[in-house]
Amino acid sequence: MKIDISYKLKKYIDIVEKQTGRKVLIEINEDLGVSGMSAAFVDHPTHLKIIFNKSFQNKDPEFEQSFAHEITHGLLIFGKGYFTPQTSESITNEELNFLGLICTLIDDIVVNKIIQQEGFEPFSSTYMGMLGKETKAFKNGDDIYREFPDIKFKSKFKIFRYVLAWGFLQYFDISGEQRNQLNEFVKTFETTYPVEFEESTKICNCMLKNSVFNSEGHEITFRYVIDLWGLNDKIVN
Ligand SMILES: [Zn+2]
Repeated sequence: MKIDISYKLKKYIDIVEKQTGRKVLIEINEDLGVSGMSAAFVDHPTHLKIIFNKSFQNKDPEFEQSFAHEITHGLLIFGKGYFTPQTSESITNEELNFLGLICTLIDDIVVNKIIQQEGFEPFSSTYMGMLGKETKAFKNGDDIYREFPDIKFKSKFKIFRYVLAWGFLQYFDISGEQRNQLNEFVKTFETTYPVEFEESTKICNCMLKNSVFNSEGHEITFRYVIDLWGLNDKIVN
């Protein structure tokens, strides 16, 4: 993939590389595994490594926003000293997936806020469309998350979707129609998935008490969810 990027993104990459002391490293993969995912930030000993799905081209309008989003995950950890869990050797793949979801559901709120301040859209243009589809499915009693065969992962994925939407309402300056859509989603979610709603609310309340926009509050919240999801003995730091 030939990467041809805007001046705005180039400038932002420079900032992130300076603040982290790491260079961005890109890898193209056939398939990222999680459905619908086009890019991911992955752990690397010396670089800020991002994997892009092969089908995701840099002429895609989402590409720059996605690029900025993923390197900001690295900025939090290596530039701002944010907590990142070190896992024990006994961790299973399922537990690793849960942990990945915790990273996304907490860190994405901070990441999206930072990229918005840097002039990128806080969410992809497909986000609102997906939210609308989910809300409609909730109302019709359809299981829109049926693609996840694992029932536990599916439940945690729903929580992730709720907390993400709640975070946009809580922390972002979002205009009328989009705000209405987000409100409709969280309201419908509450009655459709009461169990996941209750667990999501615990996480949201923890975030309200401990701001995730600083590394201390973020770590408290992160450890709270690790504990809530029973992963305490899989973390060594
Ligand atoms: Zn993310």
